[in-house]
Amino acid sequence: MNEAKKALLGLTTNELKDISAGAGLPAFTGSQMAKWLYDKHVRSIGEMTNLSKTARQRLGETYEVGCREPLRCQHSSDGTIKYLFPVVSLSGSHCVETVFIPDDDRATLCVSSQVGCKMGCLFCQTGKQGFEGNLSAADILNQVYSLPEGGRLTNIVFMGQGEPMDNIDAVLRATQILTAADGFAWSPKRITVSSVGVKSGLKRFLDESQCHVAISMHSPLHEQRLALMPAERAMPIAETVALLRQYDFTRQRRCSFEYICFGGLNDSEEHARKITRLLRGLECRVNLIRFHAIPNADLPATDMGRMEQLRDYLTGHGIFATIRASRGEDILAACGLLSTAHKKGNLQE
Ligand code: SF4
Repeated sequence: MNEAKKALLGLTTNELKDISAGAGLPAFTGSQMAKWLYDKHVRSIGEMTNLSKTARQRLGETYEVGCREPLRCQHSSDGTIKYLFPVVSLSGSHCVETVFIPDDDRATLCVSSQVGCKMGCLFCQTGKQGFEGNLSAADILNQVYSLPEGGRLTNIVFMGQGEPMDNIDAVLRATQILTAADGFAWSPKRITVSSVGVKSGLKRFLDESQCHVAISMHSPLHEQRLALMPAERAMPIAETVALLRQYDFTRQRRCSFEYICFGGLNDSEEHARKITRLLRGLECRVNLIRFHAIPNADLPATDMGRMEQLRDYLTGHGIFATIRASRGEDILAACGLLSTAHKKGNLQE
């Protein structure tokens, strides 16, 4: 594969039309290419068989589809599959992890938006990896495009490696192509993008996208959240909630809060009261998540009984709360466990 060629994956139909025009081809060639890419998921320009031979040849001199197969996959005993995808847009051998989570009639894909992460959350392996670079829209979309189970997907969550709002241009482009009628044609109701709260990116996302939003809360208390999540300094959770209150979540669009439970730390009734006060009047739900221990993070796990108490308190006080099932822990695919810190160099091994 010629690395110097430019990727078509990640371009909008209008941009594909511009490329057609630039190559002296009719504008409808751009629409045809969009269909081949986002509807049929072809692997090469040569497979775009309703383009003339001349068109395919001319385009192939400069462009390629730009998709990349996963380098590796690991299967969990619970059916979860973790894939390792190469990152094309960064120099060097970078890669990201993507998690496929089948569950009865649903199949969710957890995609990554950055290699590593700048946010440094105490409980997260990706945070410990540090930041290596942003994924392009093509790198993000390739996780969907080249997924062997792509045809089974019902939901996509941007909850893999990275803070999506810190790479907002690529994330918005990817979600736009995913939801465009001439793109992947997904409903925004099937896509959720998470954030710790990065002000400018989150505001743009709320303004420019209709996809669901999930905020990583983990504590309603400023000092405690700051200790867990340095991002609290720049955008306190109270400010994030105040921003969210400016948007309408009473219709199709959903707002949720992710809450990892640490035993004796953030799972008390006092915390439940504070969460209730913080979220009162906001149409939202809270997803409680069990903490998965990581090396060098001295944080306690909670037990199911305390999580149920927290859930029942919240639900009893008007905030719909659920306990999220933990998936893929045995292959380090569960919440907070993703890392590609040591997966560079010979990726084929
Ligand atoms: Fe980054 Fe999310 Fe991990 Fe925090 S939890 S370090 S935002 S990947």
